Amino acid sequence: MPRIRHQRCPACRTDGLVATSNPSILDCRQCHGLWFEDGALNQAIAHQHDCIDEYDHELHLGAALRASDRQCRRCHVPMVHYQLLEHYVTEIDCCPECDGVWLDKHEIDQVMHSPKLKQALTDLNQKVTWKSWLFQFLTSMPVEYNIQPHRTPWVTRTLVVLCSLIFVAGLLTPAANEWIFVNLGLNSDTQSPAHFVLQLLTYQFVHGGLMHLVGNMYFLWIIGDNLEDALGHGAFLALYLFAGVMAALAELLLFDTAQGPLLLVGASGSIAALFGLYLMWFRHASLSFMIIVYQKKLAPHWYFLIWSLINLFGMFTAQGGVAWAAHLGGFALGLLLGYLMRDYVLKKNPLIALLSQPEAVLRR
Ligand SMILES: [Zn+2]
Ligand SMILES: [Zn+2]
Repeated sequence: MPRIRHQRCPACRTDGLVATSNPSILDCRQCHGLWFEDGALNQAIAHQHDCIDEYDHELHLGAALRASDRQCRRCHVPMVHYQLLEHYVTEIDCCPECDGVWLDKHEIDQVMHSPKLKQALTDLNQKVTWKSWLFQFLTSMPVEYNIQPHRTPWVTRTLVVLCSLIFVAGLLTPAANEWIFVNLGLNSDTQSPAHFVLQLLTYQFVHGGLMHLVGNMYFLWIIGDNLEDALGHGAFLALYLFAGVMAALAELLLFDTAQGPLLLVGASGSIAALFGLYLMWFRHASLSFMIIVYQKKLAPHWYFLIWSLINLFGMFTAQGGVAWAAHLGGFALGLLLGYLMRDYVLKKNPLIALLSQPEAVLRR
């Protein structure tokens, strides 16, 4: 068995550098950075992306930025700083003489995911187009800029279809409509506890009018797919329904029953919770906002701040017909759950974690 030869690490300058199972990759036992030579870095990136065509996934760095204070372990010349991607401001050390590359510990994930990171940043930094302008001008709905989900959002699609089917069923006859509102809507006068608990779930699928349905389903469609992808199908469905239950309880708590029984329908409370989750995990995304005719991409925190102010205004001016407390209660729950689950979700989704780091340059 060959004796392990320790070599001098270019970063921490201890003799901590040892070869791994691949002799062209050396690992520092002290600072946990990695040294790559003889094309090993591009092979490792291609391997990470399960791809046979290595060239597509090679690291293509831009112009050299400046000399580094680190030295190549083979050529003993100062290395040079290169920015990893145009829109990702991590700088890595490359040797100007050989193809040696040094990666600090925190840069390893960034570099290994750089092909996906590059594609994602290109998608996110798109400019608004005349098509998106026309869409928002005609519908008053925002256009979303986020990365494409990997898995098909089956739960999101099923929820949209179910809500739409129940709405259409209610249009068929007045009797059907009456039955849906009495049995599936949430009524604070419901006598049977079992039926009341069931209504806490079913009210989320009933809508009072076409605009109510379309508005809710549009937001569910654009942000539900990303959340379902980040969470997994089962967890997404469980969170969605749970948020709807809690939003209804918030509305009941603040509702003055002297005005008569509370009748609550709609997915707005559950969807408001999705807004909270979205805000906590997708800081890199944008939603477009239109000020009369000027369309602007906004970060989720600005978009949902404006949305919350509109709801607070509605609640304090007590405009009837809209469950303001359910909206804000759902949103607050979403923020809390999003905060508590943030580490778990980012660990499960490395690309989202990398995009939420300050190195990502987002054009809005
Ligand atoms: Zn080291
Ligand atoms: Zn070198």
